[in-house]
Amino acid sequence: MANPPASVVAKELVDEADVLMAIDQFDELTRGPFLQKYGFGEATDYFLIHKGEYYDSKAIFAAAHGFHEGLEPLNVKQLSGGKADAAKWLKKLGFAVPTTEPNWTRDELILACDALRLNSWKILGTNEQQTLELSALLQRLPIHALNIRGPRFRNPDGVSMKTTNIAAHLPGRGNKLDHGNRLDGVVLQDFLDNEPAMIQTAQLIRDGVASGVLTADYVELIDIDEMDGEATEGRLLERRHIVRERSRSLRKKKIAKHLAQHGNLACETCGFNFRATYGEKGDGIIECHHVVPLHETGPKSTRLKDLILICANCHRMIHHAQPWLNPDQLRDLIAKAKASG
Ligand SMILES: [Zn+2]
Ligand SMILES: [Zn+2]
Repeated sequence: MANPPASVVAKELVDEADVLMAIDQFDELTRGPFLQKYGFGEATDYFLIHKGEYYDSKAIFAAAHGFHEGLEPLNVKQLSGGKADAAKWLKKLGFAVPTTEPNWTRDELILACDALRLNSWKILGTNEQQTLELSALLQRLPIHALNIRGPRFRNPDGVSMKTTNIAAHLPGRGNKLDHGNRLDGVVLQDFLDNEPAMIQTAQLIRDGVASGVLTADYVELIDIDEMDGEATEGRLLERRHIVRERSRSLRKKKIAKHLAQHGNLACETCGFNFRATYGEKGDGIIECHHVVPLHETGPKSTRLKDLILICANCHRMIHHAQPWLNPDQLRDLIAKAKASG
């Protein structure tokens, strides 16, 4: 009996619609039967993420190839161009196939440092309760978009490993900052230098996640790129801080109170007055700045006396460098700059 004709392999012809059909079929059949149908095993490294669901990337691509007119599904051998072959083609089509986990951010490292502290600075094992809790917490944080998280995103193994890396930077362990990820050592040092504030920060993040304040859509309101640097206490509290400063009702109350007391809206740090400079069109233009440090603001609502009214330039200056300047420091800067000419 003659062999059937070898099917054509034309990976470059597979398009987005073919992949979407394969995804639909995967959903319809469910994972096990889908993998069996195409003769693939379960993926361990490369998953396609679509609408928050994970799909075995190779099997999906193999199936998609068969959905393209005139082509057959690929078999395992035909997809043997390296571990990431299917991932590469799927990415080209614009699908999310994360091949590495996103780097740990400052917020996440602060939480890991605090977990280490609570464990007397001993490394957290994979199966310890604290590790499981930290892993679950990190997975809930709205820092990394779902479509860039791989299947092992902040799992207990990874969390345990990270505490090992951080602990390697503890004083007396002989590791310099160039060991592993530099940020691990930087954040650990900040943590040790400002322990009370960092403990409060970690607690506020945990509370914010538990209450939903830090995980609601609310935190999406601020584009990270809008911010110059990263606050010592991390992005989550910083974003919450800026959202609070922009609260319309607070702003309205603050302005009304200020006008009643001072009769104008001059910047409280430099004296700039939009109305005086720009005339009528400048009327009412001023920004609110919340003067209490991030780690002290807590879940309680903002008080009017914690807000000052400042011009956009001064506000920019305050948030530009870390740690944020307080209003007195900014007034000093302005006075010094004036004096020097
Ligand atoms: Zn000003
Ligand atoms: Zn501000």
